[in-house]
Amino acid sequence: MQTQLKIFADIGELLTLAGVAKKDARHVREEDLSILPDAVMLCRDGRLIWVGTRREFDASDILKRLDPRGAAERISLGGATVLPGFVECHTHTVFAGDRAEEFEWRQQGKSYQEIAAAGGGILSTVRATRQASFDELKSVAQRRTDVFVRQGVTTLETKSGYGLDLEGELKCLRVARALTGPRVVSTYLGAHAKAPEFDDLTAYLNFMIHDVLPRVAREKLADRVDIYIEKGFFDTDMARVYLNAARALGLPFTAHVEQFSDSGGAALALELGARSLDHAVFMSETAIDRAAGSATTVVLLPASDFYLKMRYPPARALIDRGARVALSTDFNPGTSPTQSLGFVGVLARIEMKMSLSEVIAAYTVGAAGALGLATETGSLEMGKLCDFVALDGSWRELFYTVGAPSIKSVYKSGEALPMN
Ligand code: FE
Repeated sequence: MQTQLKIFADIGELLTLAGVAKKDARHVREEDLSILPDAVMLCRDGRLIWVGTRREFDASDILKRLDPRGAAERISLGGATVLPGFVECHTHTVFAGDRAEEFEWRQQGKSYQEIAAAGGGILSTVRATRQASFDELKSVAQRRTDVFVRQGVTTLETKSGYGLDLEGELKCLRVARALTGPRVVSTYLGAHAKAPEFDDLTAYLNFMIHDVLPRVAREKLADRVDIYIEKGFFDTDMARVYLNAARALGLPFTAHVEQFSDSGGAALALELGARSLDHAVFMSETAIDRAAGSATTVVLLPASDFYLKMRYPPARALIDRGARVALSTDFNPGTSPTQSLGFVGVLARIEMKMSLSEVIAAYTVGAAGALGLATETGSLEMGKLCDFVALDGSWRELFYTVGAPSIKSVYKSGEALPMN
């Protein structure tokens, strides 16, 4: 195979985030963004092989050595600000239908039970998702994926969990595998809620462990497994059995924990060595301390807290004690029907008192860590994938307005992604 060499030149300011990556996205300061003026990146077959200032580039003989015949493609970024592509590490992008009506009902003060009785709630999405054909589901999920790309997302995690039965879940996971554009990390979340045809959670859990998980693993339909741990849903005993079954199949895992109560999910996720623990609104002081000293990333999802009029997770305590945190939209039709990274970042700054540098780190290196991809993406350094975003204005305007971000172009593994 012929190697492909690309020179990305005319970068006004390059935020490599090398400092953030070096610190494992902990205790991030502005200087960790590692900003280079007038920079150049060299990319070979999708990976960075050189990053530095134009002055260093001109003074070095790297291009002569690597490209003696002058075959490299030179791409001018026109003075743009460049930073690592964003990593959206917690979404429920594959679903059919919407819950717009339910949103209105909630504002009218209808209870969860009343909404469920009126045909709303998660089971309404399950019905619509089961009814949708593969092509219908793929088409809506692709449109949503394109919305993420236009905001600079180069790696997108998406969960199943609206099929629940075997056929429905396999369909959702196959749709995730068929999405184009960003790098997609597919997560099996059958343990999202009880499938309606099962009498109790234990029976459903056994079905997943014996009938679904082995198939998902064999057909390589998911990169990891997730479970919703909460009072009234899966408890920690069930989650322990389930996550150990996933682990036995070689699948990494994550968990939705402590969204509405301290139900011990965070402690379990930490004990079992989960890649991330997500939501963490009601995390205990002990769990915060343990998370800070662990390799598990805490994924903060403030848009769902906003929509539910909840309190926000203890971001400051986590960050100040040295935890690695990530941010994500938790995009889903019920509790967080937004795909806006800008909104999440603004909430993080206003409601969780995170600095802009912390938000940028959480959406790149931190989120890559949550997905087990910290050595691949999240910062622009030699050896990593050439995943980046070129901005029209200054990086200081990021996560400031809620609306269209000023993104000029998005590259994944050195290839421009179509801004559909
Ligand atoms: Fe979620």
